[in-house]
Amino acid sequence: MGNKRILVTGGGGFLGSRLCEKLLELGHEVICVDNFYTGAKRNIYHLLDDPRFELIRHDVTFPLYVECDEIYNLACPASPIHYQRDPVQTVKTCVHGAINMLGLAKRLNARILQASTSEVYGDPRIHPQVEEYWGNVNPIGPRSCYDEGKRCAETLFACYRMQCKLQVKVVRIFNTYGPRMHPHDGRVVSNFILQALRNADLTIYGDGSQTRSFCYRDDLIDGLIRMMATPDGVTGPLNLGNPEEFTILQLAETIIELTGSGSKIVRKPLPADDPRQRRPDISRAERLLDWHPTTPLRQGLEATIAYFRQLLREDPGFCLQEE
Ligand code: NAD
Ligand code: UDP
Repeated sequence: MGNKRILVTGGGGFLGSRLCEKLLELGHEVICVDNFYTGAKRNIYHLLDDPRFELIRHDVTFPLYVECDEIYNLACPASPIHYQRDPVQTVKTCVHGAINMLGLAKRLNARILQASTSEVYGDPRIHPQVEEYWGNVNPIGPRSCYDEGKRCAETLFACYRMQCKLQVKVVRIFNTYGPRMHPHDGRVVSNFILQALRNADLTIYGDGSQTRSFCYRDDLIDGLIRMMATPDGVTGPLNLGNPEEFTILQLAETIIELTGSGSKIVRKPLPADDPRQRRPDISRAERLLDWHPTTPLRQGLEATIAYFRQLLREDPGFCLQEE
């Protein structure tokens, strides 16, 4: 099933780099576009010698002229720390980036998949979240540059589908974790693992009763590739994530156990707009993609812990530097 030339924006990031690897494994050519705002060259070093892999340093807020058959649009800082650092650039990446990539897809008549997010549901009033739910989003809060940027990107994808008959695919990704997460992304999984490996206190925001569902990276990438391969009529939006729900306290305790750490748990204030609960309803993805995440949390955490152990050994400066 190889032989396509596939563009991956954000290909130097946590998810993008794994997607590039998987597409190469399937026999495709890959053009990876990234401005390395939050991505890292270390994520794709090992691919640079592959003649089917091409890297372009480029910011998607500017037009791009390449030739390809399919586009996965992943470029966007994904963690609150990163996307709040330059909120205007975050909105531009979401909106101008989508316009540029949709324009490219239109010229090439290429299929295009958008990496949207569970954040489009905001602080949801219904649980678990189904795709029909329109969300509960603050348009002017600290998360808005990302939430509303991603919502506008979804609007653009819908407009190009209706107006230009473009083959679009939109997936809403729920919390995903795994090797190559950025050590300073402030996400709960990377924070807790690095704290545990250093025997530092694990910082729980609030009382730890808020819940999240954590999807392992490889399960998610499998879902993206399946979505791209669906028939023309399947456009989404489609939730992708792991419906198994854990409290943040349970996550902290599991990571302490798996690392064998002597760390204690401490409480910190809950950030503004921090959602109480989040769990995807993935029945649509199960039906349309014949997909279900298969990696249990403990197994995924073990792989992620192994990655951070190695990173701490090989590049402690990168791992431990303060933001
Ligand atoms: P990441 O930050 O590791 O990857 C994003 C990549 O995009 C980085 O390599 C970054 O340098 C690049 N980038 C950012 N702005 C760019 C720009 N203007 N031009 C070109 N490249 C740019 O994050 P990730 O977790 O791999 O997320 C990938 C995508 O998935 C994002 O669109 C994110 O919104 C979405 N997503 C991720 C999660 C998750 O849990 N990881 C959840 C929901 C949605
Ligand atoms: N969180 C925490 N300690 C940390 C980092 C995060 O308790 O060191 C909490 C955070 O308040 C939230 C949950 O863990 O309730 C998930 O946070 P993350 O930033 O990973 O993802 P998101 O809020 O986007 O789901």
